[in-house]
Amino acid sequence: MGDRCDVEVVVVGAGLAGLAAAAVAARGGASVVVCDVRAAGGRARSGTREGFVLNQGPHALYRAGAGADVLSRLGVGFSGSPPHPVASGYTEAAGGLALLPTSAGSLLRSPVLGVADKVRFARLLTTLPKLQGASFGALSAAQWTASLGLSSRGAGVISALTRVATYAGDLELVSADAAVAQLQLALEGVLYLDGGWQSLVDGLEAAATSAGARVLESERATALQARADGTFEVRTPARTLQAASVVVATGSPAAARALLPHPPAWQLGAPATAACLDLGLRRVPATMVAFGLDQPLYLSTHSPKAHLAPPGGAVVHVMRYGARTSTEDKAQLWALARRCGTGDADVVVQRFLHEMTVCHALPRPGPGLLGRPAIDATGTAGVFLAGDWVGAAGLLADASLASGEAAGRAASEHAMRRRAATGATLGR
Ligand SMILES: Cc1cc2nc3c(=O)[nH]c(=O)nc-3n(C[C@H](O)[C@H](O)[C@H](O)COP(=O)(O)OP(=O)(O)OC[C@H]3O[C@@H](n4cnc5c(N)ncnc54)[C@H](O)[C@@H]3O)c2cc1C
Repeated sequence: MGDRCDVEVVVVGAGLAGLAAAAVAARGGASVVVCDVRAAGGRARSGTREGFVLNQGPHALYRAGAGADVLSRLGVGFSGSPPHPVASGYTEAAGGLALLPTSAGSLLRSPVLGVADKVRFARLLTTLPKLQGASFGALSAAQWTASLGLSSRGAGVISALTRVATYAGDLELVSADAAVAQLQLALEGVLYLDGGWQSLVDGLEAAATSAGARVLESERATALQARADGTFEVRTPARTLQAASVVVATGSPAAARALLPHPPAWQLGAPATAACLDLGLRRVPATMVAFGLDQPLYLSTHSPKAHLAPPGGAVVHVMRYGARTSTEDKAQLWALARRCGTGDADVVVQRFLHEMTVCHALPRPGPGLLGRPAIDATGTAGVFLAGDWVGAAGLLADASLASGEAAGRAASEHAMRRRAATGATLGR
C-alpha cells in the first residue's frame, strides 16, 4: 500500500483546473497535495523542440475571460500578443483564399460577402457586444446563426468564426449562449502567450507550491473512498492519502466518474475533438491566418506575434475541428498549410496530434451553460469537481480555471469547517 499521508485537501489532476484548485485551497489555509499521473499541466503543457515552443494545438487566452480573472487573482502573470489582424477565408473545394471579414475595415474590402450580407454583418458587429448571451441557451449555435438572416455564404463566415471561438466542429451540438458569449469575448481580444501555455502551468504551479501545496507527479489516483469518520482516502500505487476534502480535476468526466464514491447522474453534452498539425518553420508563411469556409479548418501563425520561435522562424498551428481518421485529417491539414505558403523545405519541426479532446462536454442546446454539472455535483459532500465541462462560467480553459478556483475554495472551506468542528488538523 506504500506510505500513508494525512492532508486536508487532495486534488486529483494537475492540469489548469487542478493547479488553480490547489493554489486556492492552499491560500485558504489548507494543507494540500495534488497528484497527477503525468507531469503537471495536462492539455496546457507546451514542449520545446529545436528552439520552437509548441502548445498542444492552437491555444489562445481570452483577455476578458473568466480564466484571465482567476490568473490575476492568483498573481499569475503572462505576456503575449494578439493574433495577426488579417485573416483569409479558405474554400477547400476551389482551393481559394480571400480576405475574410473579421472587423469593420476588412468587411468593406472583403470579396467573400455580397452587399446585403455586409449590411447584416455590420449590424451584428454593432449589436453583438450588447446581446444577453444567457437568453440563447435553448438554441444551438447553428440555430442562432440561421436566425441572423444571412445567405449561406454569410452563415458560413459566422460559422467559421463561431467554430474558432468555441472549438465545436458541429454547431448543432453547442448551445448558443456559450457561442454568443465566446464571440463577445473574441471581440475583446485573445492573446497568444510568450513561452506558450507552459507559462500558465509554471505560474499556477508556483502559486500552489509557494502557498504550501505539494505536487506529486507520475502518481495516478486509483481509488477514492469515503471513510466512516467523514474523511476520504485517495489511493495511488505509492501511497494512501487521507483527506478532509477532495477535488477531482481529472480532465475527462469518465476519469472523474471512475473515482467518485457514488455514480453521478450528469447529463453531458458532446465532446469537441480536433486534429492538429503543429509546425516550427524556418520562415513565416505568406498567409498567416486562414479560416475554412466550406470545411471546419483553421490555420494560425502564433509566432511571430508571441515569442515561440527562433529569430526569423515561425510557429504555425493548423487544425480541423472534429477529428476523423488520421490519414484523411493529416492530408487535409497539410493541404491547407501548403496553400498558405509552407513548403517541405520550410519545416524544421512538425507534430501531428490526432483526435485531441479540446473540451470534454460542450454546453448542450436546451439547458445551455447552466446545464453543466456544478462543482458539488458528485453525490458526496466534501468531494468537488473541476474541469472544462464543469460549472456555468466560460468555455475551455476559462471553465477549467473558474471551476478550479471555485472547487479549491469549497474544498478548503469544507476542510476548515471540519477542523473547527473536530479540532483535528490533518497534515499539519
Ligand atoms: C487542441 C486544443 C486547443 C485548445 N485551445 C484552447 C484555446 O485556444 N483556449 C482555451 O481557453 N482553451 C483551449 N483548449 C482547452 C484547454 O487546453 C483545456 O480546457 C484545459 O487545459 C483543461 O485543463 P484541465 O485541468 O481541466 O484538464 P487537463 O488538462 O486534461 O488536466 C487533467 C489532468 O488530470 C490528470 N489525471 C487524469 N486522471 C488522473 C488520475 N486518475 N490520477 C491522477 N491524475 C489524473 C491528467 O494526467 C491531466 O494532467 C484547447 C485544448 C486543445 C486540446
